Amino acid sequence: MTSSTTFQPVLERIAEEVERTPRRGRPADYIPALAACDPRRFGMAVADLDGTVCGVGDWRQPFSAQSLTKVFTLALDLAREGDALWEHVGREPSGNPFNSLVQLEYENGIPRNPFINAGALVVTDRLHTRTGDASGELLSFLRTESGNPDLSFDPEVAASESAHGDRNAALGHFMASYGNIDNPVPTLLEQYFRQCSIAASCADLALATRFLARHGIRADGTRLLTRSQAKQINAIMLTCGTYDAAGDFAYRVGLPGKSGVGGGIIAVVPGRCTLCVWSPGLDERGNSVAGVAALDRFTTLTGLSVF
Ligand code: GLU
Repeated sequence: MTSSTTFQPVLERIAEEVERTPRRGRPADYIPALAACDPRRFGMAVADLDGTVCGVGDWRQPFSAQSLTKVFTLALDLAREGDALWEHVGREPSGNPFNSLVQLEYENGIPRNPFINAGALVVTDRLHTRTGDASGELLSFLRTESGNPDLSFDPEVAASESAHGDRNAALGHFMASYGNIDNPVPTLLEQYFRQCSIAASCADLALATRFLARHGIRADGTRLLTRSQAKQINAIMLTCGTYDAAGDFAYRVGLPGKSGVGGGIIAVVPGRCTLCVWSPGLDERGNSVAGVAALDRFTTLTGLSVF
């Protein structure tokens, strides 16, 4: 197998192209602590199955992982409770904004998928019930898989989200009214905001995502997920991972991916490598403009895709 350093020239070409692109979207401003990010920042990393990693630009700069963390909490919970999880959260694209409330009432408090906020709150709640510390479990997993013991929560981002968290609080209380949340809603929100606030770099996140390219096997060779569960998470990333632009992302990039409002996107080439790209300027759907463009170029230039 070729090493990920083979990708270095491709990454350099992509970075040059991004540099020449004038329009880069706008950073998320509904979380004030994220609004100040410079939309011209750009980093991209590729990790091989064996942990070799290469990158360009700001690929070692920590940024706010936000919804990228939803992939890892889903994996950690699915590994513990298996298919019982699917009685509490669905697996279909929502076709609605990530923080929408409307569908929840029609569907009796069962969120459409684990990657919209309502679904992620359910997953975090269930992981918290099983571990007693969902965000701590997540942080420890990310530290181990990335090999970076310095990864941590960003208390400023968590406090900023908490101070502007009415929508997530509404989602939590609404689902609790249907009996789909176990823990007190304030406890759940504290866990969820801490989870979203984790700061990590493209290198860290590409490395931490490798278990999905390794069909469920962690960095130390132990199994987190069955092969089938790894396939299932990759499939949900492809269909639901990039807000209500997942169809366009599949069309352009052709890989399972998950985006976050911090401007990061993780992507998986099963059996081959993982990627993480970061640029804080978002499009109107919430996906990083330069991030999607860079992944589009990567799969076009290398021919790597699940299709
Ligand atoms: N913490 C953010 C929120 O709940 C995450 C959103 C995202 O990255 O999609 O609003």
